[in-house]
Amino acid sequence: MTQTSSISIIGAGLVGSLLALGLAKKGYRVHVFESRPDLRKNDISAGKSINLALANRGIRALEQQGIFDQVKPLLIEMKGRMVHLTDQQAQFQTYGINEHEVIYSISRGGLNALLLDEAEKLPNVTLNFNHRVTGVDLDNKQLSFKDEQQQNHLFDRVIGTDGANSVLREAIAEHSQTPTQVTIDTLSHGYKELAILPDSNGKHQIEVNALHIWPRQDFMLIALPNLDGSFTLTLFLAKTGETSFEQLTSNEQIMTFFKQQFPDVYPLIDSLARDFNENPTGNLATVRCQQWHYQDIALLLGDAAHAIVPFHGQGMNCGFEDCYDLLNQIPPAGAESNWLEIFSNTQTLRKPNANAIADMALENYIEMRASVAEPTFLRQKEIARQLQSWFPEHFTPRYAMVMFGELPYAQAQRIGETHKALLRKIDDWQQQGNTLTQADGQRFLREFGLMS
Ligand SMILES: Cc1cc2nc3c(=O)[nH]c(=O)nc-3n(C[C@H](O)[C@H](O)[C@H](O)COP(=O)(O)OP(=O)(O)OC[C@H]3O[C@@H](n4cnc5c(N)ncnc54)[C@H](O)[C@@H]3O)c2cc1C
Repeated sequence: MTQTSSISIIGAGLVGSLLALGLAKKGYRVHVFESRPDLRKNDISAGKSINLALANRGIRALEQQGIFDQVKPLLIEMKGRMVHLTDQQAQFQTYGINEHEVIYSISRGGLNALLLDEAEKLPNVTLNFNHRVTGVDLDNKQLSFKDEQQQNHLFDRVIGTDGANSVLREAIAEHSQTPTQVTIDTLSHGYKELAILPDSNGKHQIEVNALHIWPRQDFMLIALPNLDGSFTLTLFLAKTGETSFEQLTSNEQIMTFFKQQFPDVYPLIDSLARDFNENPTGNLATVRCQQWHYQDIALLLGDAAHAIVPFHGQGMNCGFEDCYDLLNQIPPAGAESNWLEIFSNTQTLRKPNANAIADMALENYIEMRASVAEPTFLRQKEIARQLQSWFPEHFTPRYAMVMFGELPYAQAQRIGETHKALLRKIDDWQQQGNTLTQADGQRFLREFGLMS
């Protein structure tokens, strides 16, 4: 049995800030080291995407800390996907059949700032900005910093929420016996952010309560609303090849590409060529890591343990769920605790789920950029909707399980595989001229073991 009352955190992004708050509320002394300046005082990007989708798992973790009410004013409800087809028609596809089945667009910077404010209110949290950790000595429990003027920090325990290029992950890997400790699969597609500004009255120029998608088979454009009336657009496109970022170098190529591919939104995009040239092309990767902890002294959470591609809108939500599960296991400071058990349970509990959402996120790219516009997808979505409304206890579509439920991701993935086979079978059966009745639905659910 070991005890500690001081925990150090590397990285004050979304996950690190929430974790700092949760640990401090339990009475631990929390030292946070963040490489960037304080985003509340400096006009810097909050990193990665400007806004992102918050869903149930993330909300549950915010509620656990009693701060969801403060977050609410930052939210814009997105009730479904507005799919913009090549013929310029738009189709609205609701996310679920129930009113609560919605997701929310939120500013990354706004949420990060709120979490930092809440953490900083507690006297037992110290936030150290401009502290880039460059060395983690796990044997001597010591952090060192890029700026050599900054004194090394001795820690009792350290948690790495330092994102996809985690230094703590590297240190744990060095101490690991397993040769294939970490795999990083970089996607051949990258992303670039653009904007639709508000209209002259400060209002959104396209439907506000939707996540907009322009699916174009091999690439896609999406748009999420912001509170100031603007939208952040993100183009996901191959980095090299025939239709790719490398082909879009001149202003003329950029304008022609957007005019041809996205004629409805093209006139609304602010300073298209300038932003396209000036904004960076971001990389996307899946990071899988075998060892999430080192003995009872170090643990990885969030993207540091499991960066995933953003196509299920779950990276932050999954990181927040990591915090939720970890904090549920940690007793109040001063109480007896077995940190080895806590850290190894966290790895056992979270790793299969992180792997599952990583797979589902990759799959969802194909759904978003291609399937959403295909008749088979739409027919099967309708069958799923029908089954869910007839048998809500026995059938919840995988998307709803992931976005609106609490079932572990790995279970949602497993059940989702059964659903795929079931929906294919019913669809084929209907294509032969049959019409699905409730009794047929029950028979099919039984056949696939989803109902006894
Ligand atoms: C384009 C895009 C869209 C996305 N959309 C969504 C979405 O809609 N919904 C969703 O849930 N997720 C989304 N995600 C994923 C989400 O952004 C991440 O999962 C989330 O940011 C992870 O948070 P984190 O705190 O673990 O890591 P990060 O956000 O990467 O934060 C890590 C922090 O650690 C700091 N740091 C790094 N190295 C060091 C160091 N050596 N020393 C000190 N500090 C350090 C960094 O400065 C940063 O502040 C998206 C990602 C991308 C790229």
